[in-house]
Amino acid sequence: MNERPVAMITGAAGGIGGETAVCFAERGYDCVLLALPSDDLEPVTNRIEQAGGQFLCCLGDLTDLDYAKSAVEQCMATWRRIDVLVNNAAWREIITMRKIELASWEKTLRVCLTAPAFISRWCAEQMEPQGKGVIINVSSIQSQMAAGISPAYVAAKGALDSLTYELATLYGPAGIRVLSVNPGAIDTAMGKDIAVDQQQTTADKIRQASEEMIPLRRWAHPREIARSIVMLASDDASYLTGTSITVDGGWKQQCSPYPIKH
Ligand code: NAD
Repeated sequence: MNERPVAMITGAAGGIGGETAVCFAERGYDCVLLALPSDDLEPVTNRIEQAGGQFLCCLGDLTDLDYAKSAVEQCMATWRRIDVLVNNAAWREIITMRKIELASWEKTLRVCLTAPAFISRWCAEQMEPQGKGVIINVSSIQSQMAAGISPAYVAAKGALDSLTYELATLYGPAGIRVLSVNPGAIDTAMGKDIAVDQQQTTADKIRQASEEMIPLRRWAHPREIARSIVMLASDDASYLTGTSITVDGGWKQQCSPYPIKH
């Protein structure tokens, strides 16, 4: 068995996923990186090496559950342990319910809900004999807030939170903690892809308007979400399970209708 703890991260080439992998490596973990074959993992693997960590790259599409299962098997064949799973990958189309195609709906649910559910099961099967493990589902504040422009994604994230509570109940007696981390607005490719009309000027206006509503008055760097994830996976959070942790600069809780400059 590997002496160092092992963290498996999906969507590891993305903004939050890459920072999360590096953050785990900086804290002494080795990392299993799941990414699309078209993704560039080199910037992430370089930083993991600089931090003294080892990595295993498993490339494939999470709509293919056989691939997802084989990634868990590869991890066990290489390191014989999985300490943390971060279900981070997501796919989202900015489109209203009026226009969304069934294929887009089904792909969103497959990547954002079905894959996390089954990868969690396969990882938990390995964590149970270890007597310990942590599963973190990267959800969104959109699991409880709607903008009317991504129905499948919002539905999937709401269900992902519910899955968190379900799995925490099932696996808690085995010493496995399960949490949702619900980011607000984060400076990544997905965060910036927010305009229904695909116009940059619209996206810029939406960003500016959101920054005015966020008490901290800015979007987060993906590292700030990564650090929250790694903290929640640590023993410092040993009694936290079956709940959602919002990391949004205070955005979700502010609903002032008054145009007051604080
Ligand atoms: P990102 O676009 O940088 O990363 C998403 C990653 O998911 C990409 O690396 C992509 O390759 C991967 N992915 C997409 N489809 C896949 C598939 N079919 N198979 C395998 N991998 C696939 O975006 P991000 O902001 O880093 O998103 C990470 C997580 O944070 C997501 O779960 C997202 O829903 C959540 N989130 C992001 C924001 C934000 O503002 N950026 C806000 C709330 C929640």
